[in-house]
Amino acid sequence: MATTEPSAQSGVESGPESGAGPETRQGIGVSPGTAYGPVVQVAPPVRPPADEPPVDDQEAALGDVKAAFEAVAVSLEERATRVEDTAQQILKATALIARDKGLVKAAAKQLEAGKGRAGAIAGAIEQYAAQFEALGGYFAERVADLRDVGSRAVAAVLGVPAPGVPHFTDPSVVVAEDLAPAETATLDRALVVGIITEAGGRTSHTAILAAQMGIPAVVQLAGATTLEPGTHVALDGDTGEVTIEPDLELVEQQRARAARRTEALGRLSGAGATSDGLAVALLANIGGVDDAVAAGALDLEGVGLFRTEFVYLSATKAPTVEEQTQIYRDVFAPFEGRRVVVRTLDAGADKPLKFADLGPEENPALGRRGLRLSAERPDLLDAQLEALAIAARETGADVRVMAPMVATAEEAAWFARRVRENGLPKAGVMIEVPGAALRARDVLGEVDFGSLGTNDLAQYTMAADRMQGALSDLLDPWQPAVLDVVGIACEGARTVERPIGVCGESAGDPLLALVLVGLGVTSLSMAPSKVPVVRLALSLHTEAECQRLAQIARESRTAVDAMGAVREAASSELTDLL
Ligand code: PEP
Ligand code: MG
Repeated sequence: MATTEPSAQSGVESGPESGAGPETRQGIGVSPGTAYGPVVQVAPPVRPPADEPPVDDQEAALGDVKAAFEAVAVSLEERATRVEDTAQQILKATALIARDKGLVKAAAKQLEAGKGRAGAIAGAIEQYAAQFEALGGYFAERVADLRDVGSRAVAAVLGVPAPGVPHFTDPSVVVAEDLAPAETATLDRALVVGIITEAGGRTSHTAILAAQMGIPAVVQLAGATTLEPGTHVALDGDTGEVTIEPDLELVEQQRARAARRTEALGRLSGAGATSDGLAVALLANIGGVDDAVAAGALDLEGVGLFRTEFVYLSATKAPTVEEQTQIYRDVFAPFEGRRVVVRTLDAGADKPLKFADLGPEENPALGRRGLRLSAERPDLLDAQLEALAIAARETGADVRVMAPMVATAEEAAWFARRVRENGLPKAGVMIEVPGAALRARDVLGEVDFGSLGTNDLAQYTMAADRMQGALSDLLDPWQPAVLDVVGIACEGARTVERPIGVCGESAGDPLLALVLVGLGVTSLSMAPSKVPVVRLALSLHTEAECQRLAQIARESRTAVDAMGAVREAASSELTDLL
């Protein structure tokens, strides 16, 4: 249990047994919008038959195993050609797992030990999975992908249909225990009206990708996988509410609220500001060229976080300066005259890059990741800064560069010097380590701006692995301790007169965005689909009201209390639509 008190954010709220009509359950809304449709359950993993006999011809069997892994890699790569950008990188990265020679070697040992073909594949996968789980952090997160590859290979060697999203033709709500990133990335947006998962968290890849794809999504919904296929559900990706077999009146109410929301959102455009004119830049989080092109066409003020490591997730060799320049040029081009904040490679832990691997670590999330990697591989940072400088000169975007995982003023100074030596005008740092937040005055004094990474800041403040869905209550950015740390960082930024933004997922929560602005944040960067509702929230409150909401949140004892109290105190014109 993550908390000693029951959380108002989980569990069944009302049900048929209470005679209160259709059952409504509470999950966590991670991608806005409402959806109604029949449930399509994602097929569970295929397992080897319990009575599979040992093989007669080990060489032939190993050939079949190799062919099965190869077929998985080929099918993932083939799917990669049909999707965009981030999705493509994720699929290619998963295909690389299927091509790992170590897996075939491990399967050969399993065959020698008397396993059948499917059992040998599953055994090899589990052997790797145990090692990855023991390593924790990034590696533990890859276990879902590894098992996905294993299950597909088992299906291939048994000649049965692959696990995953089944074929369907009517607009439906896709439900799963959790979706492998490869699965989420390749969903057909025209047919998938909503996503519900039983596991996952606010900052899981499923949540990030669903928001980027504009599909309403709810995660952490208890009992989701036991919903009968074909059951009709209504979900609200803003509030996290899921209603099972809702009566049509409720669906209608939900739709009407969504229509009022669309109308209210459509009335506003342009730069973000509070009702009394305090400017708060509304920016997009992107992961590559396609995201940049899509976000560039929207009404927003630029990019607040370009996660450059997403471009290279499947690269086996470090990209050259020329290769990088081409990508950065394409990312900057849609933002002529607008700001683009580029984060240098945040490799390691949950985002490993083959070419930047320094070997296994006991605790990768606390290890040589982000800027720390540059101490051993300054060549990677130099090549990236050189490419960014060339691309920035060639395009009209207002390019600013920031470093991930900065902990001290010395690191900030070192990074700023390198950025300036490369002729880039503005250097900044992510504030996502509590140490840097507490000493923001010193850290930000060395650079031009800061950007709060509340995903990692929550992880490190609460000592809770962000990949662990079971810890999502602790990882909640509404945790008063996290808000205190953000508040202290904002005070530091104010002292040295540096702007400080937020680029973690919290920036896209309209109520939390008000709190963040009240704490002193001057820009908010989020999945582009969340910009309109945050713009609306700001437009309905003054700066002083935001400060009051921040005070209310910080005076609360728990995350649930903080959110509830802010919701209560915020403008009803906003909360009626949430
Ligand atoms: C963060 O940590 O909040 C952040 C924005 O970076 P990432 O999610 O890529 O670690
Ligand atoms: Mg981070």
